[in-house]
Amino acid sequence: MSAKKAAPAKKAVAKKVAAKKAVAGKAVAKKAAPAEKIAVKPPANESRTALVRRARRINRELAEVYPYAHPELDFENPFQLVVATVLSAQTTDLRVNQTTPALFAKYPTPEDLAAANPEEVEEILRPCGFFRAKTRSVIGLSKALAEDFGGEVPGRLEDLVKLPGVGRKTAFVVLGNAFGRPGITVDTHFQRLVRRWQWTGETDPDKIEAAVGALFPKSDWTDLSHHVIWHGRRICHARKPACGACPIAPLCPAYGEGETDPEKAKKLLKYEKGGFPGQRLKPPQAYLDAGGRPAPPLGAG
Ligand code: SF4
Repeated sequence: MSAKKAAPAKKAVAKKVAAKKAVAGKAVAKKAAPAEKIAVKPPANESRTALVRRARRINRELAEVYPYAHPELDFENPFQLVVATVLSAQTTDLRVNQTTPALFAKYPTPEDLAAANPEEVEEILRPCGFFRAKTRSVIGLSKALAEDFGGEVPGRLEDLVKLPGVGRKTAFVVLGNAFGRPGITVDTHFQRLVRRWQWTGETDPDKIEAAVGALFPKSDWTDLSHHVIWHGRRICHARKPACGACPIAPLCPAYGEGETDPEKAKKLLKYEKGGFPGQRLKPPQAYLDAGGRPAPPLGAG
C-alpha cells in the first residue's frame, strides 16, 4: 500500500466526497458528512471489531446507493430461476432475460423441458452462448427435477447441488431469491470486491463465503450479495474501477486502484440499457415507482 493510499491529502478526500455526491445523488449526499470523517487507511492493524463495523458500514452505504438491488434475472417461480441462473454463466443477465420468455412459453414445467427435443432447445438458447452445454444442463436438471423431486425445485442446498449444472453459487441464488433462505453468492464480482475491501484474505469461494458470512448477521446475507455484485458490475470493475465516482471510497483500502479523477471516473460507470432497474425486463411491482414506471437506476438521466 503506498503512502498516498495510506494517508490521502485532504484534497483527495474532498475529491472523493464530491464524487460520491455526484454519483449517488441527494440521498447519499446527505450521508457524505459522516463518511468524510473516516480517513482512508490500510486496515493492516484493523481490529476484528473495526473490520465488522467497516464491512457493515459499506453494506449500509451500498444499500442506499442500490435500494432496489435484486436478482437481475427475470423469473416467476423457482424452476424459472434455477434455469435462468444456469443460463447466465458466461453471459449477461440481460441476454438471459431476452431469451427465457420463449423458452418458458414453450416449456413451462420441468416435465416439458425434460421431454424437449434438444435441437429445438439449442435454437432458443443460441444467443446465450455455450448453447449446447447449456441445453444439456437445463434438460438434465429438468429430468432430475421431474424424476427425483416430483417436478418441484427442492429448497435445500444439499438437494440443489445434486442437480446437473447447479453448484453452490447457483444454489444460493435460488435459495436466497426463490425461497427467502439467506445465502451468500460468491461470484467473480464478490470475490474481487471483498479482496479489495480486505474483508478476507481467502481465495477459495467456500472459505470466502464462510469468512464474509461471519462479518454479517445471516439476515443480511442475500441483500449483501446483491449490493456487492451490483457495485462490481456498475462501479468497481475488474480492470478499471471508477474510484473517483465511488460512494464508498472513504471506506475502501483499495481506493486509487482505479481512476480517481471524478470526471474521468464518471465515464467508466456502467449501466445496463435493457430494462430498468438493472437488467430486469419485467421488474417486480416493488421496484416500480408511484407512477408504475421502473425506479431509475443510479446515475441515470
Ligand atoms: S476499488 Fe475503487 S471503485 Fe472499488 S470500492 Fe474501492 S474506491 Fe470504490
